[in-house]
Amino acid sequence: MSELPRITDLTQAGFRELAETHGIRPFRGDQAYEWVMKKGVRRPDDMSNLPKPFRDVLRTNLDCEDPIVEWSDDSRTTTDKLYMRLPDGDGVEAVLICEGRRTTVCLSSQVGCPVGCTFCASGLLGLRRNLSAGEILDQFIELRKRTRALERRISNVVMMGMGEPLLNYDAVVHALQVLNDPKAGGIGARHITVSTIGLGKGVKRLAQEGKQYTLAFSLHAPDDETRSELIPFPGTLSIAELMDAAHEYLRDTGREVTFEYVLLEGVNASARHAKQLADLLKGVRCTVNLIPYNENPGLSFRRPTPGAIDRFEAILRSRRIKVAVRKRKGHKILAACGQLRLRARRATSAE
Ligand code: SF4
Repeated sequence: MSELPRITDLTQAGFRELAETHGIRPFRGDQAYEWVMKKGVRRPDDMSNLPKPFRDVLRTNLDCEDPIVEWSDDSRTTTDKLYMRLPDGDGVEAVLICEGRRTTVCLSSQVGCPVGCTFCASGLLGLRRNLSAGEILDQFIELRKRTRALERRISNVVMMGMGEPLLNYDAVVHALQVLNDPKAGGIGARHITVSTIGLGKGVKRLAQEGKQYTLAFSLHAPDDETRSELIPFPGTLSIAELMDAAHEYLRDTGREVTFEYVLLEGVNASARHAKQLADLLKGVRCTVNLIPYNENPGLSFRRPTPGAIDRFEAILRSRRIKVAVRKRKGHKILAACGQLRLRARRATSAE
């Protein structure tokens, strides 16, 4: 296992500084940054316009190896799932979803997750560690290679894989800046979504970043009692505080928030819950993203019937709430964060 920092961990300023420190002109650092972040080339020997001395500097100071893709799904033309093995032997998941003209990647921010949502497989694992910015960007770079092979272009990034992004704030924001940089990821801020359970300090900091990132709150229930059973994490904003935070984020960034709502049969998916939710969101400028639950063998939660899902959606629409229901193509992956890692771990432990 390399003790060196990942080459993807460096900011553009970091590349420039590395060049200058070794007596090389700083613009060479800009070139290296573009090779890595724009072209996805990590090996210095493949950076054809860099002088050999700087390629040597990169090689001796940074871990320039490509990550090992340990596991991927079989449905490559529409969705793809990567399991990337990390140098310490653990792994991380990332997802590609192609729907019409939209190509979305879903990235993880932590190995495991400390939040412990009762319906989520990542909650079963607990937190192993935070990912570095480079490890988050590695996921993007690998999925972008696959996207290019499909002659598509990534249009959207969602931080909605394993982990709570705002609990790994600095690394996540560093990664978002690189993703948003036209000389690197080239993804518009409005097309980058940060999904969070709602942590007051992190939400405020994100609003002050001066970017129009899309913020998605995991709501999952119209009342605090049900919500705290589903998301038993201390420090999570109450529902009233979430509504205030939604208003503040709109005021500070000009962006409406999204509320994520996983539909769980017998828990939060009845007509009564839909009406409660509509009352709660009356006058709040937002979109509700309904996510029919993807059943997980290790958990007892059930997906509502198609009729119940339609009824829930119809009640919200009849109350003029903007609502989207996650399409089948994506739900199997995104509604079950952590499931991929569990499967890969089971597969590797069975070897
Ligand atoms: S749903 Fe998200 S926040 Fe909750 S345990 Fe899973 S990964 Fe963590």
